[in-house]
Amino acid sequence: MKLDAGVAVACAFGAVVGSFLNVVIHRLPREESLAFPASHCPHCHARIRARDNVPVVGYLLLRGRCRDCGARIGCRYPLVEALTAALAAGLWVFFGGTVQAAVYFTLAAGLVAVTFIDLDHMIIPDSLSLGGVAVGLLASFVTPLGWKASLLGAAVGGGSLLAVYLAYYAVTRREGLGLGDVKLLAAIGAFLGWQAVLFTLFTASVTGAVVGGASVGFRLRQAVPFGAFLAFGAMLYVFWGPALIQWYLGTVS
Ligand SMILES: [Zn+2]
Repeated sequence: MKLDAGVAVACAFGAVVGSFLNVVIHRLPREESLAFPASHCPHCHARIRARDNVPVVGYLLLRGRCRDCGARIGCRYPLVEALTAALAAGLWVFFGGTVQAAVYFTLAAGLVAVTFIDLDHMIIPDSLSLGGVAVGLLASFVTPLGWKASLLGAAVGGGSLLAVYLAYYAVTRREGLGLGDVKLLAAIGAFLGWQAVLFTLFTASVTGAVVGGASVGFRLRQAVPFGAFLAFGAMLYVFWGPALIQWYLGTVS
């Protein structure tokens, strides 16, 4: 546990990355450039001034409205920034200023983008999923995981969901889950290893079933895509996975 001034720095850094993730979430599925043009109001297209572009704070000072036309700006933007800031702060507290923490944060940032893109468009861009496999493999050379465990994790992650995908298709002739989910779990495996794959799959299935059941119960229209649950399961593993596994094994034996 590392509770010090570094938490504030990690928080600020996370918020800035979150601000960039908003751009990624909005533009990547539309195949727009991530660098140009600069952020603008989606309503009146006025450029967002630098002083209003401060993560979370800018939104609160403007009370969620565009400075130029007064149009409402979705609360999604500060939410993504705050979520990314919280993840960065949490990783600092758990892992300190280590290479491991930096790699976990890379994964976390990618998963935040994946979650919201999947919520909006029901797709997971290959640049994030397959890109994640590549980054996870590369990162394993400098983390305790090691490249063999990373490669095995990617294979188990991609392989297990691919088997589910093929089996479901063979039985129903329909796509139960997207190939994007298959590639995403391969990326999670490359970052975290095969134990994390099993943990993520289990957690995602349970939370997915609970939330899916609840959304039917409350008659919510929007289906929550599986990718969002995989992302949640993976981050749960990063913070509490080994502890939860130990607790679970302790209670069943
Ligand atoms: Zn505007």
